[in-house]
Amino acid sequence: MKPASGGVHNLRAPSIIQIKERISLKERHTFGLPATARFFCEIENESSLLALLKSPTFRDNEHVFLGEGSNSLFMRDYPGIVVCLRNKGVRILSENDEAVCLRVSAGENWHEFVQYTLTHGYFGLENLSLIPGSVGAAPVQNIGAYGVEVNDFITHVEAIDVESAEVRTFKNKECGFSYRDSCFKSSLKNRYVITAVFFRLLKQPHLVLGYAGLREGLDSRGINNPTALDVSALVCEVRRTKLPDPKETGNAGSFFKHPTITESHYLKLKEIFPDIKSFELDHGRYKIPAGWLIERCGFKGRSIGPVGIYKKQALVLVNNGVASGVDVERAIVKITEKVKSKFDIILSVEPVLI
Ligand SMILES: Cc1cc2nc3c(=O)[nH]c(=O)nc-3n(C[C@H](O)[C@H](O)[C@H](O)COP(=O)(O)OP(=O)(O)OC[C@H]3O[C@@H](n4cnc5c(N)ncnc54)[C@H](O)[C@@H]3O)c2cc1C
Repeated sequence: MKPASGGVHNLRAPSIIQIKERISLKERHTFGLPATARFFCEIENESSLLALLKSPTFRDNEHVFLGEGSNSLFMRDYPGIVVCLRNKGVRILSENDEAVCLRVSAGENWHEFVQYTLTHGYFGLENLSLIPGSVGAAPVQNIGAYGVEVNDFITHVEAIDVESAEVRTFKNKECGFSYRDSCFKSSLKNRYVITAVFFRLLKQPHLVLGYAGLREGLDSRGINNPTALDVSALVCEVRRTKLPDPKETGNAGSFFKHPTITESHYLKLKEIFPDIKSFELDHGRYKIPAGWLIERCGFKGRSIGPVGIYKKQALVLVNNGVASGVDVERAIVKITEKVKSKFDIILSVEPVLI
């Protein structure tokens, strides 16, 4: 990844738009469902995006934005236009002894960006290594892993209003960030297209090691004084052993969000299931790992038609190769109904179903 030459909105780049018709989406989302887009357009720069937003094909059809498709499932043929962001560039905006501020174009690959930051001595994103997808999608569901959420490092999100074609900068507080959510995934879904994300990263590492055995993993490798690169390498190693590689097995990572329940509900469940896994939150609520609930329902390693429940992690659904959107819907219903009847907990789906 090279630092970018592009200006803030890169409007001087030529606006070339090529709208294709009847394009297969199977290879364009990691779950790999068979679906077709009526129209499909890849966007290389912001001026092309503005031209597209004004085009009749865009204005007369419904639309959806796509990065690398690792958190989107095309459940059926899409009757409108799928717009794929491929704009590139990383720019240093300011820097001092403490921190660096960067503007990163939406179409950059997330993991490559994380590796770029670490090799340049910019810290904070190490625990988010190897999360698939694009930089532009990172704020959409406020990606998180190993005790870190991306919103802790985002200062602004630059986006274009698809109705007025005006550029708007959302300050961190205006993005409505919460657990696997933001206004871009909820109230403003598909209204704004994110063109760039602004980060403030640290020059001195503040490693977050208290989660999911990171400290133990480093100790067992004899690393007593870890660097951010050590943490990143460990996170990558653990992820590679625990999660299916989307290049080999269709999946979208965690398929359900971890539900939160009240204290009285938790205490009731604890009586029946003394080994229940939980994290105590503020305000007397408890977060229950969705994978544990699914596993305790006996689904782990099993298949519901051509949709599998991953053998190493029940939270991940996999495409056994020939699954359709209908098969995925059937699996969702079967799993959520069983979890509801056993634990009185309603699971909600994490990826975006289109
Ligand atoms: C194996 C695997 C592991 C994963 N692990 C994690 C994890 O640890 N933590 C985690 O949080 N997620 C995880 N995910 C989910 C996924 O990687 C993230 O949500 C990622 O940010 C999605 O990026 P993408 O570019 O593929 O998004 P896409 O699937 O292309 O899009 C996701 C959503 O964002 C919207 N969107 C995309 N780009 C834009 C844009 N430029 N402007 C406006 N809206 C946009 C889309 O419309 C869609 O609603 C995992 C997925 C897989 C397959």
